[in-house]
Amino acid sequence: MRLDRFICKSTELLRYDAIQLIHSGEVLVNGVVVRNEAVQVHENNEVSLNGQKLAARAFRYMLINKPANTLCSNVDGVYPSLFSLIDVERPSELHIAGRLDADTTGLVLITDDGRWTFAITSPSGQCHKVYRVKLAKPIAADACESFLQGIALQGEQELTLPAHLLIITPQEVLLTLTEGKFHQVKRMFAAIGNKVLSLHRESIGAVSADVAAGEWRYLTDVEIRSFG
Ligand code: URA
Repeated sequence: MRLDRFICKSTELLRYDAIQLIHSGEVLVNGVVVRNEAVQVHENNEVSLNGQKLAARAFRYMLINKPANTLCSNVDGVYPSLFSLIDVERPSELHIAGRLDADTTGLVLITDDGRWTFAITSPSGQCHKVYRVKLAKPIAADACESFLQGIALQGEQELTLPAHLLIITPQEVLLTLTEGKFHQVKRMFAAIGNKVLSLHRESIGAVSADVAAGEWRYLTDVEIRSFG
């Protein structure tokens, strides 16, 4: 991670103060003064400030079962931020690994580990996200095949990646995606002439929304390691 971030994660300093200290030559990496806050440091680098060795706090990993009318954002807007439901220290260090729309409910993963987020959100990570979708009209007979072949979304050059559809009833399906374009589920159903009435994310990889709506918990080590 960047040197300024490492200092923030190992002290109570704000980023601005960390950068000032780096510029003034008070930070050493492996015994050498480093004045560039963008330098990358790794676990095996020794970082010290004013002669004291620093150790970064452990990353945090949690899940929340998002209720409707909350925002996947660090600040409140038309609705309260999801973070208003999570009572932890330094919430501004956390981010959401795969956002949901305000009206979508279900599983949201939250962390301060950017690499972990990348493994979950990048299509190359092949991480399965399962959505329960209630539809305005009965599903078209050829929808499973169309979703598998890829859908041309309005305004996108490339087809969506193969997506699996499991039909529960004519107007309720489970959709599995490995990517997360803006409003993707709603746009995929719009493209085949249907409309999403409600959307709930049931799982991401091996992790499911197993707490009540509005509740959160830390992930287990096994769950954390199951990604990437
Ligand atoms: N797709 C959508 O359309 N909305 C979401 O919230 C998530 C996926």
